[in-house]
Amino acid sequence: MLGYTPQTSATERDWEKKFQDGIVANNIRENMRRLSARPHHVGSPYDKDNAEWMLARFKEWGLDAHIESFDVLFPTPKERSLEMISPKPFKAKMQEPVLAVDPTSNQTSEQLPTYNAYSADGDVTGPLVYVNFGNREDYDELDRLGVSTKGAIVIARYGSGWRGVKPKVAAEHGAVGCIIYSDPREDGFFYGSDYPTGGWRSKDGVQRGSVMDTDYPGDPLTPGVGAIPGAKRLAIKDAKTITKIPVLPISYADAQPFLEALQGQIAPEGWRGGLPMTYHVGPGPARVHLKVASNWDTKPLYDVIATIPGSSPDQWVIRGNHHDAWVNGADDPIAGMAPELEEARMFGELHKQGWTPKRTIIYCAWDGEEPGLLGSVEWVETHRDDLQKHAVLYLNTDGNERGFFGAGGTQDLQPFISGVARDINDPEKNISVFQGLRGNCARIGFEFREGLAVALGAFLQKFQRILHRRKIHIRRDSFDRGRNISLVRVGGGSEDSFFEFEIALGEFVLLVFQKFLQIGFIFRDGFGLRRIVVRKQIGIGEAHDGGAGCLGERASVGKVVVGEVRVPVEIVVDRVILIAFIFAAESDIE
Ligand SMILES: [Zn+2]
Repeated sequence: MLGYTPQTSATERDWEKKFQDGIVANNIRENMRRLSARPHHVGSPYDKDNAEWMLARFKEWGLDAHIESFDVLFPTPKERSLEMISPKPFKAKMQEPVLAVDPTSNQTSEQLPTYNAYSADGDVTGPLVYVNFGNREDYDELDRLGVSTKGAIVIARYGSGWRGVKPKVAAEHGAVGCIIYSDPREDGFFYGSDYPTGGWRSKDGVQRGSVMDTDYPGDPLTPGVGAIPGAKRLAIKDAKTITKIPVLPISYADAQPFLEALQGQIAPEGWRGGLPMTYHVGPGPARVHLKVASNWDTKPLYDVIATIPGSSPDQWVIRGNHHDAWVNGADDPIAGMAPELEEARMFGELHKQGWTPKRTIIYCAWDGEEPGLLGSVEWVETHRDDLQKHAVLYLNTDGNERGFFGAGGTQDLQPFISGVARDINDPEKNISVFQGLRGNCARIGFEFREGLAVALGAFLQKFQRILHRRKIHIRRDSFDRGRNISLVRVGGGSEDSFFEFEIALGEFVLLVFQKFLQIGFIFRDGFGLRRIVVRKQIGIGEAHDGGAGCLGERASVGKVVVGEVRVPVEIVVDRVILIAFIFAAESDIE
């Protein structure tokens, strides 16, 4: 076994077997039931209740646990109004239905209304313009078409990038307001039956989400420092990450009358969505009135932090998943959080039986990820000095799916990942994860040849872009040799979608993690890997649009990510499958 002598390999295999045999699917199911039973967004009673429940569990399992709290700016809706003034009056409903088949859909008194967090307050009126996804290149196209968005309210569809980019770019082009809707072409019947027949977003479903700008992640009022009592706080008007113009998300049932009232040029072919109508760009003749006002309150965050001390306590492996959701969050984040708890329980159990991890493990259940990575960022900002000294790895999950394993990264980590993939059985197909991967590599666009590097140019390029965007210089020549940065991402995707770098079996993730705690090679002196850039990874691993559709989540009315395919939660839980797991090691970054 890579990183082990023949003798220590045998011991390691014994512990790994104990670990795998000890995982109880029903525990995960019950964790999920409990955590997703009620809406649990930041500041809600059940958010705190969940944190306290997890704290008690960590303690029960023998971990040294506590809650770390921060006070952050978290706006919630006070007023939301969207209407068409002409050519014919129409008022957007912005209301998701209660469905008899969905036992949590009637918890309306605890649900946040549909909105985009960190939208500026505003009361604006203007002609409507359709801007496709609302990315920069879409405005270039509008220029070519001779269409201006100055003084307009733009309507953009969800997808093709971070939703916060849409109002940002709109404001840069003179728009006074922004509407974002879920077109069925990206998120609905185009892909499959909608809820409740299938799992895809139905006509009244609205994607909630943060539109925070990306100048810095975390609490808008405390950039760079932990949002603890006495921290220096900006005035709200000086917070750079709040949008410049008001934004509201709507369903396609609400969007269609607005879109149908547009005339002007026919939208370019690539701009047309899945609604049964001709898409026009405008401007107008539709005139729209948009009003958004939030309660700009400070809300408490509850990060649950639990530790298992290692035999090398100066090195910390940090393992996180967030616990807050926009609504019930059975998929995002509980499909990630529920197995993380079971994993912690088993490590606690092994610890009682005499196993000690080589490195200290710190379990984190983050609060406030959905609004903008609040809980993880404030924690990192508070503990930055210690983390820089001690953190060697951050491992993040966010949800669960089934399908095929995928991995990508630098060459030096390939034998390790392959080795683990050979050790793990896919419980559904009863072949090793490695075999499953090879059998399906073409389908997920994944290049994987035994004995060769896990060569994923696209991923590496993407990662380099992220790093460069963050103004970190990497010596490119040594990138491929893995001397400056070693990284790997494993992720998951559905059998019915073809996302790159998707799917990891949960057990696989658990085992990877367990191996990382023990294994010598990746952190050995002279290899050049000395620390993990924890802060970056916390952000990268968690930032995605999330999804809905499982136990307790309102599949039709929660958030659904494009390309995500829902499966009944019983399957998800039984299979213990995780998605979106990312980590990286770094050294000598200049
Ligand atoms: Zn999430």
